[in-house]
Amino acid sequence: METSGYRINGAGTAVALVNAVTSGAGSSDRGLAELLGAHRYLVPEPSAADVDRLRDWAHRLRPAFGGPGVIALLNELLADVPLQPHISDHGLGPHLHYGEPGAGLVDRVRANTAFGLALAVCEHGAERLGCCKAAGCDRVYADVQRGPRRRYCSRACQNRSSAAAFRARRAS
Ligand SMILES: [Zn+2]
Ligand SMILES: [Zn+2]
Repeated sequence: METSGYRINGAGTAVALVNAVTSGAGSSDRGLAELLGAHRYLVPEPSAADVDRLRDWAHRLRPAFGGPGVIALLNELLADVPLQPHISDHGLGPHLHYGEPGAGLVDRVRANTAFGLALAVCEHGAERLGCCKAAGCDRVYADVQRGPRRRYCSRACQNRSSAAAFRARRAS
């Protein structure tokens, strides 16, 4: 259970990072550090150089959410990150780490997010990574639930879009 939690966590971290860096007004450096802490990264205290690399990485992850060539892109990212999958246990029970033992924060994030998205694509399909269809929203999502395909980043965007569609139908 911890293992699958970590798999989803990699995709979840990728979504949160891409949204924090590339959508809306973007997140502050402080906000990025808090985001990583919330996703259970150890030592979520990035230097200024780390933050720059995290922002670059978020821009490279973004095209994985929708659009052609997702698999080729993820393979490119995986080839570009130092990977050494191994079982770790630091008080959470045995679970997989994808980066090299002792890797720095940025490389851990890179390994975990690239691997997490690759697993999501293999288990659920590339079309389950997407960009929100709501007007005015450019947030991405990873739909790893069973059932009908999601088209929105959040319940709020879904509700807003259904209400707008309802009003448009009634007006016509
Ligand atoms: Zn761990
Ligand atoms: Zn949205």
